[in-house]
Amino acid sequence: MVEDDHGSYDQALEEFRGREYPMLQGTTYLDHAGTTLYAKSTIERFAQDMTSNLYGNPHSASNSSQLTTKRIENIRLRLLGFLNADPEDFDVVFVANATAGIKLVMDAFRDQESGFWYGYHRDSHTSVIGVREAAAKHHCFVSDVEVQQWIDQSDCDGLPGLFAYPAQSNMNGRRLPLEWSRRIRSKKHGAMYSLLDAAALLSTTPLDLGDSETSPDFTVLSLYKIFGFPDLGALIIRKKSGGVFDTRRYFGGGTVEMVVCVREQWHAKKADMLHERLEDGTLPIHSIMALDAAMNVHEELFGPLERISNHTARLAAKMYEGLSSLRHGNGLTACKIYKDPTSKYGDTKTQGPIVAFNLRNHQGGWVSNAEVEKLAAVKSIQIRTGGLCNPGGVASSLDLAPWEMKENFSAGQRCGNDNDIIRAKPTGMIRVSLGAMSTQEDVSSFVKFVREFFVHDFPSPTTPPVTSLTAEPPTTSILHVESISIYPIKSCAAWSVPPGQAWEVRREGLAWDREWCLVHQGTGAALSQKRYPKMALIRPSIDLEDGVVRIRLGGALQTTTPTAEITVPLSADPRLFSDTELYKDSTARVCGDSITAKIYKSSEISAFFSQALGVACQLARFPAVGSATSPVTSARHSKAHLQKYQKAGGMHIPGAFPNTRSLAPGYGVSKPILLSNESPILTISRSSLNRLNEVIKAEGGKAAQAEVFRANIVVAENLDSLPGAEQPYAEDDWRYLQIGQQYFEMLGPCRRCQMVCIDQNTAERNQEPFVTLSKTRRFDGRVYFGEHTSHIAANDAASPLAQNPTIAVGDTVRPYREEEAGEDSELQSLVS
Ligand SMILES: *Cc1c(COP(=O)(O)O)cnc(C)c1O
Repeated sequence: MVEDDHGSYDQALEEFRGREYPMLQGTTYLDHAGTTLYAKSTIERFAQDMTSNLYGNPHSASNSSQLTTKRIENIRLRLLGFLNADPEDFDVVFVANATAGIKLVMDAFRDQESGFWYGYHRDSHTSVIGVREAAAKHHCFVSDVEVQQWIDQSDCDGLPGLFAYPAQSNMNGRRLPLEWSRRIRSKKHGAMYSLLDAAALLSTTPLDLGDSETSPDFTVLSLYKIFGFPDLGALIIRKKSGGVFDTRRYFGGGTVEMVVCVREQWHAKKADMLHERLEDGTLPIHSIMALDAAMNVHEELFGPLERISNHTARLAAKMYEGLSSLRHGNGLTACKIYKDPTSKYGDTKTQGPIVAFNLRNHQGGWVSNAEVEKLAAVKSIQIRTGGLCNPGGVASSLDLAPWEMKENFSAGQRCGNDNDIIRAKPTGMIRVSLGAMSTQEDVSSFVKFVREFFVHDFPSPTTPPVTSLTAEPPTTSILHVESISIYPIKSCAAWSVPPGQAWEVRREGLAWDREWCLVHQGTGAALSQKRYPKMALIRPSIDLEDGVVRIRLGGALQTTTPTAEITVPLSADPRLFSDTELYKDSTARVCGDSITAKIYKSSEISAFFSQALGVACQLARFPAVGSATSPVTSARHSKAHLQKYQKAGGMHIPGAFPNTRSLAPGYGVSKPILLSNESPILTISRSSLNRLNEVIKAEGGKAAQAEVFRANIVVAENLDSLPGAEQPYAEDDWRYLQIGQQYFEMLGPCRRCQMVCIDQNTAERNQEPFVTLSKTRRFDGRVYFGEHTSHIAANDAASPLAQNPTIAVGDTVRPYREEEAGEDSELQSLVS
């Protein structure tokens, strides 16, 4: 068992974690809702039980059936004991999860003849809120004071009533008064019932139902949140309040004694025990048996829940102190913590081991949670962000009015997307939660992480840093195209255009770039390296002579399939695709937008990719092939970001947050593109990459290859003729590019995520370059590298330059800043 005083609790935990869970090494696990951290021992013990005893289906006289019935009865009793509940006063109904328990109570109230009144506290989980849809009348209590005042008025409007609230908010861990159940019973004289949602509370703190007169009528639990395994919930019913279920209409499986259905409709429900009437269908027998093993393991490891309660309270207080003390160099606090004013960290009566917060930058602006989560993922820190299934608590803490939430919804804000700061307010929060398995080390490494990436130590500079704007503009073109890459299959490896080969530029991007993608057979969603890093080892190449894409597998994938290579014709021969009439229905999705793709019907092609990646997938092709003169009408439209961005100038101080500069008007113009995520073409600069790699290497990290950025064009300074001419990040100021004889518009900087950390030779995940990018290229809380680019078609559609625009490796590159566009009359005429 884990030792008592808290230094050795930590030490014993560390040892236990190291021994039993080597995969946790280097991971900071701070999402304890539904933890499976200590399930391993339970599963081993459960497997032992299952393989050495014969358990039959209950309801028969055989020994094996009797054994099952006996075990389940004992476990029911044991679970009541866990809550100090007397079986005389309480019954246990096993359900799938806490939500199913809540719905069972709802069923009973919905079937009351007169309908029912439903009240719930603002801090409730969505599962509790949903009950209102079945109520004749409902009310959301926005404060504890309102609840108290309502309890004290003894009026009820005649309907049977149910009041529900969480014992602990799953949002910020705040604990609500348990005496409400008693007060409601005594003031409302039995006309009002109470439903306590104990799903969050019980994972770290005991609940005592020792006195049935003061206990809630209905209490729901998520057993997996306490024990990690099995996936099971329970509804604890105070027997004196069980009459409510008499009106429940549904019956099924084992809950009924006799049913007449031919010619006459009649049934008799089981009358003895509440649980017999309410457990519809076959019980989750094996899960219930596993619960017994889980309770044994939990008790042996941790002893009584009080110890977990004290341990986690101590850690949460440390976390709260650590995060609240983080300040930027100018004195502003970095964390806005959503603590209830009535609660106190360290006090287990008012506060559970959860801290909910948002981060602010040194200017007082909000940091995007999506960015925090990306960095946390790279650093192996597991946290939860977003709406946290607690809409009332989140809206109150973030001060979001209903109209704002609806408007945000219409503006595309959904749980879990990138668009998480709207109208200068965050739309969700960050939650760290601690559990029985958390250690001091988890707390300090998280605080350190926030300090390292989100605290700006230096006082704000009073003068803006020197930027390249002050440097003399180059008088002659000093750049050239170092390489051109295309990605025939979205998210797979790059193919380099051979030097000297003129490559066609189309309105939607470079020829053959992201024409194909792999789609999941089940969901139709396009696969990406973020989830399937091995896609980096799928290496397509374009063979214009034979008119095919040749696809080979590299690295570890070479042994996955007997087929060394497949080829797919470049021409979109309709016979290759599954029923052309059907293709409109097979909608692949890229970044949330729907696109229509044709699926290759060849089972060899599907098998090749499915075996390589270990997921059932199909090759798909974007339907229309356009050219500069006959644009594709159905192409998706680019979403180059409209937001402002900032520029660090020549200096790259870790954590630097320089001044803001707006992008020029016209940015974010919608452009058609194929399957690339953001814009037709992505351009990066060699000297910026070199600068980035210098910083990475100085910190002992692994330098990044150009391929990880999914760039199409790498431009580099001509260092032979002008040594020392490197201008890292000069592209931040470019507005147009002339490459060879073609003109391009820069649409804006490219926002980055942790996908840049996948090594394109081995498909392994690294921390770099995202960690260093986050420190050197984070502006407005977002990480940028490279520029979205699109081709500008020539005015004179009859000229060969317009009819077949091409670029090649080695072409000279001439950048134009906004104010320089007028220096080139051709460019001037194209853009004015
Ligand atoms: C997790 C949770 C729920 C939902 O529990 P399930 O077992 O997933 O149905 C409800 N309320 C609170 C407070 C929770 O934390």
